[in-house]
Amino acid sequence: MTRLAERLDSIRDRIGKAEQQYQRPAGSVKLLAVSKTRPVTDVQQALQAGQRCFGESYVQDALEKVTALAGETIEWHFIGPIQSNKTRPIAEHFDWVQSVDRLKIAQRLSEQRPPTLPPLNICLQVNISRDPAKSGVTPEQLLPLARDIALLPQLQLRGLMTIPTYSDNFEQQRQPFRDLRVCMETLQAEGFALDTLSMGMTDDMEAAIAEGATMVRIGTAIFGPREQKAK
Ligand SMILES: *Cc1c(COP(=O)(O)O)cnc(C)c1O
Repeated sequence: MTRLAERLDSIRDRIGKAEQQYQRPAGSVKLLAVSKTRPVTDVQQALQAGQRCFGESYVQDALEKVTALAGETIEWHFIGPIQSNKTRPIAEHFDWVQSVDRLKIAQRLSEQRPPTLPPLNICLQVNISRDPAKSGVTPEQLLPLARDIALLPQLQLRGLMTIPTYSDNFEQQRQPFRDLRVCMETLQAEGFALDTLSMGMTDDMEAAIAEGATMVRIGTAIFGPREQKAK
């Protein structure tokens, strides 16, 4: 077994234990392997170990992998900041975009999604900690944005995503995840059929599962520490 396969196994184990501990149904938390900045050989190793969903943050870096692995059954998620001049390759090559926080970007993704492909799955990114350094809409901006995006034909609104301000304290980690769950419940009460709460990374995965995450996005614990990407 490769080192990477072992790490994947231990993450699956952590997810299973957290589901049990916090009374979540077994298998209710999906694992997104965040392969940003990693070489295609890492993705191949993860594929061999049974991982099918991968998250990428940088368009160019992602396209190399998407192209190289075109013959494989992979669900690709775009999770990084989106510049409006990069929406076309994202609309053409990804299955999900989790980092939508502006109507203009959503409109472009819908227009540029090839009609031969199923609608692009969308999560709205919420700046739940109201951190000026982070992307995402505020909870107040969420309902009007969701209403506008629901009208776009080539998009399917699936849920919410967040990256909270870092904390190493478990109870403090839970609070923003609880707040995001309330945002999702509010939208559901307004009639939106959402099924995805994308929250939790390597350091706060258990807190997110405790608060209802349906998808955790894990990079470091699967692929090892990342080098800081040069801007
Ligand atoms: C990099 C990244 C992750 C993975 O973070 P780790 O701490 O390495 O698990 C998750 N979500 C987003 C949006 C990211 O950019």
